[in-house]
Amino acid sequence: MKIRVIGVHNLETANTRHTCFLVDGVLAVDAGSLATSLPQTELAKIRAILLTHAHFDHCRDLPTIGLAIVERSHQIDVYGLQETLESVRTHLMDGIVYPDLTKALRDASARYQFHPVKAMQPIPVLDYHIRAIPARHPVPAVGYIIWNKDGMSMAYTGDTSGDLLPFFQDPHAPRVLFVDVNFPNRLKSLAELVGHLTPALLAQQLRHALDIGVKLPRIVPVHLGLQYHEELAMELSAEADRLGIELKPGQEDMLVE
Ligand SMILES: [Zn+2]
Ligand SMILES: [Zn+2]
Repeated sequence: MKIRVIGVHNLETANTRHTCFLVDGVLAVDAGSLATSLPQTELAKIRAILLTHAHFDHCRDLPTIGLAIVERSHQIDVYGLQETLESVRTHLMDGIVYPDLTKALRDASARYQFHPVKAMQPIPVLDYHIRAIPARHPVPAVGYIIWNKDGMSMAYTGDTSGDLLPFFQDPHAPRVLFVDVNFPNRLKSLAELVGHLTPALLAQQLRHALDIGVKLPRIVPVHLGLQYHEELAMELSAEADRLGIELKPGQEDMLVE
């Protein structure tokens, strides 16, 4: 399983991208910065996209990708909570802001096939299985565990201030967990209000997991708040030292095998 980390931030700028991932070149997790990061030939290889929730930074590039493959014969399967898929259809590909690419265009068939997912159920997607894990966020949201038949597994929490234990205790517990750490510790109240973690909130959960005997996977903080970059790096490093683990923030374009 080759994971390309497309972006690790909450905002896209000249040198940062929205948090999203590409697994083996064919399965994308979120679509906030996919089109701005991949040439058309690579966009054309994507066969499925998992959406964690409907916020703009997680689904922005769906319309672009759909039109970029309009000459191709294949469809892309898009998975997400029913509410997420409805929001994308109502607010993003609404026929006004952009065409609804789940329907046939004038001379091209539908580009997207939407598949609602239910939390905690294993679902086959391409050559993988996925499980949506409930998140705590102001809109309906999930994270995903993705595993293949070789037993390789990765997970992304999506945006959440919620419980990480379901990731660690899953029968297909991931080797690597990408986790939302958007705000520094001084903004704990705001983080909890808008459904994100801070380094201390993350560390508290990791400490609890260790105390009950969980073997932690590699933890990679992502969805980093652009304006808090140095603060987050310092606070994560301090928490990592206290826990005796590594908590290095993710980087754009990093490859994880
Ligand atoms: Zn969000
Ligand atoms: Zn977000």
